[in-house]
Amino acid sequence: MRARKGDGMGVRRARAAIVVAAFMACTLLTTTLAAAGTAGRPGGHTGSNRRCHAGASGVGDDYYPVYGNGGYDVAHYLLKVSYEPATNRLVGVATIFARATENLCSFNLDFQGMTVRSVVVDGKRAAWSRSQDHELTVTPGHALKKGRRFTTVVRYDGVPRTQQIILGPDFSIEAGFMHTDDGAVIAGEPEVAANWFPVNDHPIDKASYTFVVTVPAGLEVVGNGRLVAHTTHGRSTTWIWNAPEPMASYLATATMGQFDLHTYRTASGLRMYDAIDPDLFKEQVDPDDPASPTFGEIAEGSLARQGEILDFLSQQFGAPYPFSTGGGIVDDYDNLLFALENQTRTVYSKFFFTDSISGDSVVVHENAHQWFGDSVALAKWKHVWLNEGFATYAEWLWSQHEDLGTTQEIFDALYNGIPADDPLWQVVIGDPTVTFLFDNAVYLRGAMTLQVLRNQVGDRDFFRILRAWARTKAGGNGTTDQFIALAERISGQQLDDLFRTWLFTAGKPALDAVGATQATARVAATASGGAARIPPAAAMLLERVSKGALPLRR
Ligand SMILES: [Zn+2]
Repeated sequence: MRARKGDGMGVRRARAAIVVAAFMACTLLTTTLAAAGTAGRPGGHTGSNRRCHAGASGVGDDYYPVYGNGGYDVAHYLLKVSYEPATNRLVGVATIFARATENLCSFNLDFQGMTVRSVVVDGKRAAWSRSQDHELTVTPGHALKKGRRFTTVVRYDGVPRTQQIILGPDFSIEAGFMHTDDGAVIAGEPEVAANWFPVNDHPIDKASYTFVVTVPAGLEVVGNGRLVAHTTHGRSTTWIWNAPEPMASYLATATMGQFDLHTYRTASGLRMYDAIDPDLFKEQVDPDDPASPTFGEIAEGSLARQGEILDFLSQQFGAPYPFSTGGGIVDDYDNLLFALENQTRTVYSKFFFTDSISGDSVVVHENAHQWFGDSVALAKWKHVWLNEGFATYAEWLWSQHEDLGTTQEIFDALYNGIPADDPLWQVVIGDPTVTFLFDNAVYLRGAMTLQVLRNQVGDRDFFRILRAWARTKAGGNGTTDQFIALAERISGQQLDDLFRTWLFTAGKPALDAVGATQATARVAATASGGAARIPPAAAMLLERVSKGALPLRR
């Protein structure tokens, strides 16, 4: 099911290896020069003249104007980090390989907290300044001409910031760099990377990554991609992970702590790394029932189905799994209340693993994101339904596959189960605003939109649309308008009304408003006929909606 020899992957991999080797060589040179220089020079200027100008402090995201930066494109991050759990102190050297896309007098990186010690561009000390609690402005000694490749080395240290993700009005949960009893979990959305390394922090600028992370001996580090090496010298161990496939910055992780690291291949040959905190095998799902399974056992069981799940998704989406490795991380950290689709290495809250249906379902969701969210990333955050609607719909496809209720039955149960006056229907998921970016509505109405589309265009065209979206956008970014245009092109239908109603109009849509198909007409029949079963996937969503602020997010 996956890309194998003969389709170009081999050549790309070989090229990637050469590129990484070149980066390594380059890094040795630049870090040597950096070490030879004197202390950094805070300050600097952002001049502007005909020859060069200051790079923009954002990429133009309507919701997050200072996320990402203008004027350059990052190819690779080499992150050399050492972390001491006892003090929460991190010491880092970030080497950023980029190409100027404009004539730059200066450029910005996103970086929050911690202390910058020096910035070196192409081996020479650069002036720098910080502002807005977010922007690190770098002014090299010479302007960077458009098209020029340049290397920036930032040395820094401090205690990385833990932050809050907004999940609704007056409601947020912990995310970012989360300090645990034996290490740190690194996961968050829409922004996490700038808490632990200087970065062009927006999904529009994907890059490959190498993580070289040193921790006290006896601890594990689990990053994205492939484990290259881990070596112990005295009281510390250095772990090297390489993630060669372009990745949005918020998906980068180097989670640290005590883990059982399980390395294996799926039946289809995909290299997998699963990491479960051993403490979870001592913690009963029901603390009052010593006979109940542990979080670790349930998590292990669901992660063991990843090969099967990836083959299923690959077949449903009509596109091979987009990366060269896979796997998941489950840490024993009570404040971690979400799962995030970190590329090739999802980070899961243990609380999803209370039973196998819930556990399998979140594993399906996060692995579906590897296609929709990671490989096909958002061009702007307002298009978030393209991530969450698709990953939720994948759970529904899995439900049908497991004979736990069809996608239409789930749609029916939700449509009939959520009254028209529920505030959920007021969220305009095609432009949800920052406050409602991860609201239940984005997930639920997003998946319902796909079911309505499927009913409208028929199964054959619906799966052709998914396949084309996954394949043509693989490794890149997408927008809602592009998805609508694709759906119209493949189906040959005018779908403005459907998408306007479901994505861009507040209120519970009337099913006949988008042209009653046989299937949508059946929803109305089910509503009046009663007796329809409520599939577990629908029950889970209905429970989330009824509790409003239930924190577990995926
Ligand atoms: Zn999700």
